[in-house]
Amino acid sequence: LLQRIMLAIFLLLPSLFPCGWSEEPAPQTDTQSSTSAINPFGIFQVSTLQALQEGCYDPVITAGELRQRGNFGIGTVANLDGEMMIIDGVVWQILASGEIRQAPDTIGIPFSNISSGILPRLAFVTKTAYKTHSGTLSACADLDDLQNQLAAKIVDRNLPHLITLEGEFLQVQTRSIPAQQKPFPRLADAAKNQVVFRGERVKGVLVGFWFPEYFKGINMSGFHLHFLSDDKKFGGHLLGISSAEGVKYALFPKQDFTFHLPLSADFSAKDISKAKTSELKQLEAK
Ligand SMILES: [Zn+2]
Repeated sequence: LLQRIMLAIFLLLPSLFPCGWSEEPAPQTDTQSSTSAINPFGIFQVSTLQALQEGCYDPVITAGELRQRGNFGIGTVANLDGEMMIIDGVVWQILASGEIRQAPDTIGIPFSNISSGILPRLAFVTKTAYKTHSGTLSACADLDDLQNQLAAKIVDRNLPHLITLEGEFLQVQTRSIPAQQKPFPRLADAAKNQVVFRGERVKGVLVGFWFPEYFKGINMSGFHLHFLSDDKKFGGHLLGISSAEGVKYALFPKQDFTFHLPLSADFSAKDISKAKTSELKQLEAK
């Protein structure tokens, strides 16, 4: 009988103490919180590059929400209205007209990668806990040369990386794509109307990502970089570049990867598994 009473008390305990130990919430960590979550170890991705390739240009989140997930990133805005770049928490929209403006928090984002990092000039003096690699590059003859030099600096080759670069560049070639109208064309068709910009002796910042080969179903393996000049008059998706030696770089390997996929019927109707990798590389790798 005593055993039964003990058992009854034991079973009753949680209801006797409704706010007690049985109800205590699990401790929160950076990676568990869902709002205002800049995870220093993570990369946040809106949609997939393959969905963009297939014409999903509808907004998934706003620029304001995106800024809650990091301070350096790249992507595009709703209707594919230009290239997008986040530098130190500020979202820049580089329009095909050549106009460059600070994007309002209300603007929609159909695709982006964003993470947390710092400019290379600060990586030199700041000791971060996140395995940051920084230094200066040798002279770069072209974009392949720049990418090869950066690739040689990547130690953790199975981790995705945020990349920031800054310096004075001899020549920079960028592109932007004009806004599209519904029914949205595929990216390959939209890119036929891309506008190419060329700058010489231009100081600026590059932000981008390097993904390992195994990311190729959801993004693109290798490099994807966007450029913005310090005077905010020239920028876009990077097509070509050259520089003397001394360009500063910082590489941030990341161990967490978070997705935010579109809920739209448009996204669900697309066959994004068949998106062609070779076509994507042609469109986005350069
Ligand atoms: Zn791009």
